[in-house]
Amino acid sequence: METVDVDELIEEFETITKDAERIQRETLRKILEENASAEYLQNLGLNGRTDPESFKSCVPLVTHEDLQPYIQRIIDGDISPILTGKPITTISRRHVIYISGTTQGKPKFLPFNDELMETTLQIFRTSYAFRNREFPIGKGKALQFIYGSKQSKTKGGLNAGTATTNVYRSSTFKAEMKAMQSQCCSPDEVIFGPDFHQSLYCHLLCGLIFREEIQLVFSTFAHSLVHAFRTFELVWEELCDDIREGVLSSRITVPSIRAAMSKILKPNPELADLIHKKCSGLSNWYGLIPELFPNAKYLSGIMTGSMEHYLKKLRHYAGDLPLMSADYGSSEGWIGANVNPSLPPELATFAVLPNIGYFEFIPQRLGNLESQVLCIEPKPVGLTEVKVGEEYEIIVTNVAGLYRYRLGDVVKVMGFHNSTPELKFICRRNLLLTINIDKNTEKDLQLSVDEAAQLLAEEKQEVVDFTSHVDLSTDPGHYVIFWEVSGEVNDEVLKECCNCLDRSFVDAGYVSARKVNAIGPLELRVVLKGTFQQILDHYLGLGAALSQFKTPRCVGPTNKTVLQILCNNIGKSYFSTAYG
Ligand code: AMP
Repeated sequence: METVDVDELIEEFETITKDAERIQRETLRKILEENASAEYLQNLGLNGRTDPESFKSCVPLVTHEDLQPYIQRIIDGDISPILTGKPITTISRRHVIYISGTTQGKPKFLPFNDELMETTLQIFRTSYAFRNREFPIGKGKALQFIYGSKQSKTKGGLNAGTATTNVYRSSTFKAEMKAMQSQCCSPDEVIFGPDFHQSLYCHLLCGLIFREEIQLVFSTFAHSLVHAFRTFELVWEELCDDIREGVLSSRITVPSIRAAMSKILKPNPELADLIHKKCSGLSNWYGLIPELFPNAKYLSGIMTGSMEHYLKKLRHYAGDLPLMSADYGSSEGWIGANVNPSLPPELATFAVLPNIGYFEFIPQRLGNLESQVLCIEPKPVGLTEVKVGEEYEIIVTNVAGLYRYRLGDVVKVMGFHNSTPELKFICRRNLLLTINIDKNTEKDLQLSVDEAAQLLAEEKQEVVDFTSHVDLSTDPGHYVIFWEVSGEVNDEVLKECCNCLDRSFVDAGYVSARKVNAIGPLELRVVLKGTFQQILDHYLGLGAALSQFKTPRCVGPTNKTVLQILCNNIGKSYFSTAYG
């Protein structure tokens, strides 16, 4: 495959976004025509109509739960046209690990097909084109911290893996990555290894071996990048030993990984000395990444939403290297590409590609009012009808059998690229923390943690990771925030952090409930080092893929194992005195 033509891709994107409304109609028509024989659509009485108006009046808004019976039949091997015209051959397993409630930790299954794969590639190509225009990468490789979880067979014989695994395994994806000069420097045996600790170690080792060729450093989510370099801090001397001797550490026990690595790893004392010298010369690992990979042009991965927390640490490792927030999408399909790559991740927006799905938006402001007063579902608006500055819940109709599907994400329209909106990811719709009249989202929690973490920063410490829990065993109930802190911090500072967390939840419901003690004092529990690693290991044990892992920002009462891990590791705990 030849290298991709950046100008042509940008030109294509400009063309489709100039005519977003027409392209949306056409995309809907195509989806409905191709899947006209699907039982789900047949039952809704569309009778061949493919216009948005008929579609909206016949097809209901649904959640994953509504589609579960249909998806289950597909999983079980029913090859009749159920959700799509052509039978689905692959299933994406998505771990619902960041939503509070009973679904925590349980995999959610979604249809995956070639058409969805094509839209994935289209998004990757588009954002690559815009990135490459500003930060051209030369011939070389990418250090990608990607991990394919095991692909299994469902009862009905379908391939099942996480969406990222389904993508990484695809030969089209590999060819495309090569064309984008972003081929992963690690062999497949490392990417698809059965033990992520061993895969991570080998990704780092491959990165060092090919250090001169590395053009970019990537992971699906920023969290994995930070995790990788935190691990590097612990194993760097061992990595140097491996390179010096040309012998792989005994910590790698998977035969296929050992065999693949032995083809790459040769004794290279000069390289080992060089890396050793570079690492020893760093101050607190600042600027580690450009030091290790002198030709890297940028870091890329999803850095928005719940990943914003990791930006500070990532910037520390990245030094002067730019951070590029990747695109916006989900196992249900991609939505928008970051076409302004030079903006810092905090300002990143995603321009919706009008030909990869049919999108609708439920206004949030109006939604709350209407649904409270009239108890009815607010009316969604079309892609080109959204208004700048407004927040919406996003509804997806995709090419893999999801029709008017509530993704559960809230986005804000920041502007338009031609006639397609540029979205900012705000939060998951589900509220994380609520006891009575209080409503705090993931974003509220993050803001509150950021605020309190500034007090730690004055002590040169940081919040490694965090989560929360609503404790209703006390009367009144109260919020519990769990923190893992990078080092020792004295009690006075932590007490102040606890008060600051409490004060920083500014939601009117929370503040008024706190004032009258309808919600008890917030509790900060500082957990021992390594607690969040245990949580990660727990999810990996359940079959979650590291590349799709997001720390659950709220641990519900039913998530007993994670709650147990947290509670077994409490170092100190503090109660807020912010409200007297
Ligand atoms: P998954 O299906 O496991 O890949 O998770 C998809 C979810 O991750 C989305 O519904 C969002 O809530 C979140 N997500 C994906 N892309 C982004 C992004 N660019 N910024 C913030 N959150 C994102």
